[in-house]
Amino acid sequence: MKSNLGNWMLAAAVCISASAWAADGGKPGKAKPAPSKKFIDPANMDLSVKPGDDFFEYANGGWIKKNTIPAKETSWGSFIMLRDNNKQQIVGIVNEVSKTSATQPKGSIKQRVGDLYASAMDTVTIERLGYNPIKADLQRIDAINNVDAVVNEIVYERSNAIGSPLFSFGVRQDSKNVSKYIVSFGQGGTSLPDRDYYLNNDARTQRIQAAYKQYITDLFTLTGSSPEEAAKNASTIFGIESKLAQAQMSRVAMRDPNKTYNKFTVADFSKTTPHLNWVQLLPKLKVNGQDTVLVGQPDFYKSADALLVATPIEDWKTYLKWGILRNSAGSLSSPFVQAQFKYSSVLSGQKVQTPRNERSAMFVDGAVGELLGQLYVEQYFKPAAKTYMEGLVANLRTALGERIQRLDWMTPETKARATKKLNAFTVKIGYTEKWETYAGLNIDRNDYFGNIRRVSAWGYNDMINRLGKPVDKTEWGMTPPTVNAYYNPVNNEIVFPAGILQFPFYDFAADDAVNYGGIGAVIGHEMTHGFDDQGRQYDADGTLRDWWKKEDADKFKSRADMVVNQYNGFTAVDTMHVNGRLTLGENLADLGGINIAYEAFKKTKEGKSNTKIDGFTPDQRFFLSFAQIWRGLQRPEATAQQIKTDPHSPGRFRTNGPVVNVDAWYKAFNVQAGDKMYKKPEDRIKIW
Ligand SMILES: [Zn+2]
Repeated sequence: MKSNLGNWMLAAAVCISASAWAADGGKPGKAKPAPSKKFIDPANMDLSVKPGDDFFEYANGGWIKKNTIPAKETSWGSFIMLRDNNKQQIVGIVNEVSKTSATQPKGSIKQRVGDLYASAMDTVTIERLGYNPIKADLQRIDAINNVDAVVNEIVYERSNAIGSPLFSFGVRQDSKNVSKYIVSFGQGGTSLPDRDYYLNNDARTQRIQAAYKQYITDLFTLTGSSPEEAAKNASTIFGIESKLAQAQMSRVAMRDPNKTYNKFTVADFSKTTPHLNWVQLLPKLKVNGQDTVLVGQPDFYKSADALLVATPIEDWKTYLKWGILRNSAGSLSSPFVQAQFKYSSVLSGQKVQTPRNERSAMFVDGAVGELLGQLYVEQYFKPAAKTYMEGLVANLRTALGERIQRLDWMTPETKARATKKLNAFTVKIGYTEKWETYAGLNIDRNDYFGNIRRVSAWGYNDMINRLGKPVDKTEWGMTPPTVNAYYNPVNNEIVFPAGILQFPFYDFAADDAVNYGGIGAVIGHEMTHGFDDQGRQYDADGTLRDWWKKEDADKFKSRADMVVNQYNGFTAVDTMHVNGRLTLGENLADLGGINIAYEAFKKTKEGKSNTKIDGFTPDQRFFLSFAQIWRGLQRPEATAQQIKTDPHSPGRFRTNGPVVNVDAWYKAFNVQAGDKMYKKPEDRIKIW
């Protein structure tokens, strides 16, 4: 992301793993690892478990027994360890740069990266200021005395990138006219991670609600409210947000891109919201010359509009103040930061606060990631990885093309269109070819809070300024050190940042089985997103348009339903099951990914051989490498939150879920009827 305003650019994109954010060391010119390095290490496995009983445990049990989650983390494993590694590299870079940035030319990369980090580390100033940086905002809200003033405050905060009360708003590509940017309105206005946290009543949810109300009480108390008043504010805010949550669509319902595509003229949209006149409000949001807008959830806007007049003005003022407090708490003095952590640790299970230098380094990555990214790739990116990736992507594309031709459930017409889409994929590897300059963004070494506001405002203006301009397809939605990958349907592109091109995903010294089972499966995963339950609804040029013959779509849906049922059967924590509908796209991508990567692997020299390495056959190494990327531990609180909010299934099921549908896995490990994971050949799900 170009700035930390949020992931509006990736509105429809899907990625390989949750936290958008992560790499093994490896400075340029680093020697090949010693030949004794085991890319599949039996010490990380549990050979006492039968692979057919629990493949995840068999492949990862040794590692799981030896490791614990560090107190500052909510999970620990392949992804997070690589992310932590990259984070430490970034800390090293920003720390070094900040020592001399004050004397660098104003506006240069090093001046802005180094001074931004230095400002975030300047705890003397931050502590001295307390909550002074937000006093003007709180006073402005105090002066509100009618509904119009409430609405004006909402758009003022939005257009100055101070906050995002009541609804969400952005500029994105029009998915039915992808060469144009359009204004897009969405549901919002709540703070807990999902509407369920307001509407459910189980013990785990109640604990989180109590912690949330305490958090509100704490922040109001810290800004001068009496404890009684602060507690009353908490219940007011929870009440308003619960009503907004009630009006929101569920995550599962929002998986249908046609349901969330509602185009209105500005005048017609205004008619649905009598107290929000968008003809007048859009210019205040700095939007001019736009006749139409997209509205993700029209019913939400009707409810929010009704709530505007049904709720006392004093309650709105409390709600708006809360938005300011919540947005700023992490950047104010330590009592605010501690209150925020106390709440978030109940949600995530994290035991101790992330060290300030790490938080500050990640803030720089989020704020000016394409300035920092230039310093990162200079020091850590290995061009050999890009060359290898290009070959791998080409081989996987060929394999998927052949698999599409062989599908027994699809007509030739739909196959031809699917092939056209596959051939049209754009591939991005490593980092952008056109770095963002953040023109006009001033970074002041002595003004942390001001920097945050300037970065946000720069991002808002950059977003608004797109309107009316051609779509820039060279843009990236992730920064170079990120350990992740994504498919963006409106550009029909698959994107792999530099940060993920490292072990255990990829290593230039590893055998093909390891690389195809690792980064190969990731590539196949992203390719399959172009054909999952959402992605398949976009055509070769990224337009949301149905290109399927009905009989083919029906067959796809009935096969996808089998995947829904399979994952609904997995229990993640307590009695919480994986939500097969919410995770369908990711589970389809995992299943497609392993099949495509395996087929491509079988065309390599190693794939055709039977030569064992470290005691394992090539096929065994392929599947063990796949399992190894999902190796990890997670706190139960974090798992519970993942199940509710994240379209990705927990790692254990991302391993065991796909392999039971792959015939070659049965053969590789001699899995037989009677083994716990065994599925009869006719029950194994085949889609892509
Ligand atoms: Zn994905």
